[in-house]
Amino acid sequence: MDQRRNLYFYETRRKNVAEKVEELKKLAVQYGFTIVDHSDEANIIVSVGGDGTFLQAVQKSGFREDCLYVGISIFDDLNMYCDFQANDTASLIEVMSKAEMEVRRYPVLQISLDQEAVFYCLNEFSIKSSIIKTMEMNVYIDDLHFETFRGDGMIIATPTGSTAYNKSVSGAVVDPLLPCMQVSELASLNNKRYRTLGSSFILSGDRTLMLKMLKGSNNYPIMGIDNEALSVQHIEEIKISLSEKRIKTLKLKDNSFWHKVKRSFL
Ligand code: NAP
Ligand code: MN
Repeated sequence: MDQRRNLYFYETRRKNVAEKVEELKKLAVQYGFTIVDHSDEANIIVSVGGDGTFLQAVQKSGFREDCLYVGISIFDDLNMYCDFQANDTASLIEVMSKAEMEVRRYPVLQISLDQEAVFYCLNEFSIKSSIIKTMEMNVYIDDLHFETFRGDGMIIATPTGSTAYNKSVSGAVVDPLLPCMQVSELASLNNKRYRTLGSSFILSGDRTLMLKMLKGSNNYPIMGIDNEALSVQHIEEIKISLSEKRIKTLKLKDNSFWHKVKRSFL
């Protein structure tokens, strides 16, 4: 790897992971890396855990574009964001000894709440009713009023997030080389009074999706960015678009997104 040699480790709190991380840190120091205590001093942010840990490492470090994110899996197999396995030191040494590395870039969603607070998502933004009642919202694509949704909620997924929550509600798996976002419904009501598209749809990265909560309805939604709940309440408008930001990870041989999909699901 080139001159970017400051490493920050973000690890899951599971049992026995701390010892593993100590071993990994020692190995990295042997190969000329410096371990730093804060993610803002790092050029490379390493997550040790699963996909959920990788998502947290990216959220907690603020979706930095000037650094590389590397996922190390503590499980027996690799997963969607983890290209390395903690016990496979040979692969880690190989990559640490390389002078040049190819990077791949993952699209990120940008969410603004009531034209103010801005959040980013690598997997998905989710909005759900928090009570035993449906929630209602008007859905706009750019300036077009597209539908009025009534149901449990919605998921707006990135291409890399398409294999997560989105897939569980029958959304399509999307190639991350397509900068886009996928909208999927959670149990929409469809009858003579309420009608929604009913299938997932994919929006180009140039479009904006706007969700406007219906005034006066029993709306108590909870919102999630990746694996974190947003503690914001009483929101009227949510604007969702593809961010200019991209998350960079190492590109390895025989490890395209479709290799990962095959490995994880087939
Ligand atoms: P979790 O509830 O502990 O685990 C959700 C599962 O999804 C884990 O097995 C996780 O992998 C996996 N996962 C996460 N991102 C993925 C991706 N991009 N592609 C394929 N699988 C993925 O939550 P978590 O580990 O903190 O992960 C948060 C994510 O869970 C959310 O962003 C959401 O996509 C997903 N989720 C799914 C459902 C559902 O499918 N019904 C419900 C809620 C949330 P690891 O075990 O390696 O962490
Ligand atoms: Mn997890």
